[in-house]
Amino acid sequence: MAEIVRFAPSPTGNIHIGNARTALINWLVAVKSGGEFILRYDDTDAERSRQEYADGIAVDLDWLGIKPHRVEKQSARMASYDEVAQKLKDMGRLYPCYETADELDRKRKRQRARGLPPVYDRAALNLTDEQKTAFEAEGRKPHWRFLLDQETVSWVDGVRGEQSIECDSVSDPVLIRGDGTYLYTLPSVIDDIDMGVTMVIRGDDHVTNTAVQIQLFQLLAGKVPNFAHHNLLTSATGEGLSKRLGSLSLQSMRQDGYEALAVAIFAVIIGTSEPVQPLADMQALADLFALDKVSRNASKFDMADLGPLNARLLHEKSFDEVSTRLEADQVGGDEAFWLAIRGNIEKLGDAKEWWNIVEQGLPADAVSKSDDDADFYATAKSLLPAEPWDNTTWKVWTTAVKGETGRKGKGLFMPLRVALTGRGHGPELAAFLPILGYQRTLDRLS
Ligand code: GLU
Repeated sequence: MAEIVRFAPSPTGNIHIGNARTALINWLVAVKSGGEFILRYDDTDAERSRQEYADGIAVDLDWLGIKPHRVEKQSARMASYDEVAQKLKDMGRLYPCYETADELDRKRKRQRARGLPPVYDRAALNLTDEQKTAFEAEGRKPHWRFLLDQETVSWVDGVRGEQSIECDSVSDPVLIRGDGTYLYTLPSVIDDIDMGVTMVIRGDDHVTNTAVQIQLFQLLAGKVPNFAHHNLLTSATGEGLSKRLGSLSLQSMRQDGYEALAVAIFAVIIGTSEPVQPLADMQALADLFALDKVSRNASKFDMADLGPLNARLLHEKSFDEVSTRLEADQVGGDEAFWLAIRGNIEKLGDAKEWWNIVEQGLPADAVSKSDDDADFYATAKSLLPAEPWDNTTWKVWTTAVKGETGRKGKGLFMPLRVALTGRGHGPELAAFLPILGYQRTLDRLS
């Protein structure tokens, strides 16, 4: 079935890898089912929502390869929410309450002291019109609670399987605050109904909202979408991810030069029954992913594991796939250069360092040649084959040097590597030597 899904971030900060997980899982389900992905900004909180964050989210999603079929903003849909809220009030399912936060707190303490669950006692349902008028005369503004049906709400969750929540142990939720603003609960349901959402995929921190939302769906639309609540990612030390965790933001991963596909594979596959592995593209990720492979437990995300995956992806990239980006980085190397160095970089930006080593000479922090090897270098220099060079030149040359000096293994190769690259490890020298060319090699042996 073609699923209509939505990713509904609040534009109150940069999105992090955990948000990307929600977005990507939605995207993969849409792609796999031939459905639609709606990007919906939950921006009813006018004070904390900012356009720059909304723009940033669009850039992050685009970078990941998510191309929304439709973009919506809750701030543009207030009239619909007001209309539905009025309908719920008329039905008697949304009722005004006047308790202050302090009063509610005291109520809960009393309930706990008596060993009762701290569920709202619905006292406001018994208020007379005079009492309401008196509260308003005092300057109190009502907040509005949804009158729950005290039933058991059940659903089959796409990740968690059979779920049920007893609504008699849930407080009637506040849907409208005292200042008239909406909490997320109601607008989200109205949007999902109006936009024809068939599957709500989100983090499992929303499981507890689901019973309330299912009752709202039943009441307002007579039908309920499917739900799938995926596990959340935590930091390597097990803390929940927040928008303040700068290094885990997509923006910083992009700026640090990670491959979007590596981030996408990581964000989706961690916390599933599949091992993290390099994949060719988003389609391959879609093919591999299924909601029922997602674990029910939180999963740790360690940035230290992203580098190796990024490297493995790069090692399989052809020159055509990266040439435009290399050019933009002013890396002038051709296909032979790329094939020589791709196994020795973790991020594409590292190619620049190898290109500089070819073009500009040894790096400032180069490993120095040992004075004890002076004779060895002189011999190696005298045996350097004439051009043209190809991938067999290294073998011809080092065989000759070995014959003349008696050196072999590391004692033979390491001084040459250090002289030619300034590094103790790096690309296969057989591939690197022809890129460096005769004159530069000769100069570096002096
Ligand atoms: N804005 C909500 C959030 O970011 C959306 C939750 C939902 O997907 O229903 O948590």
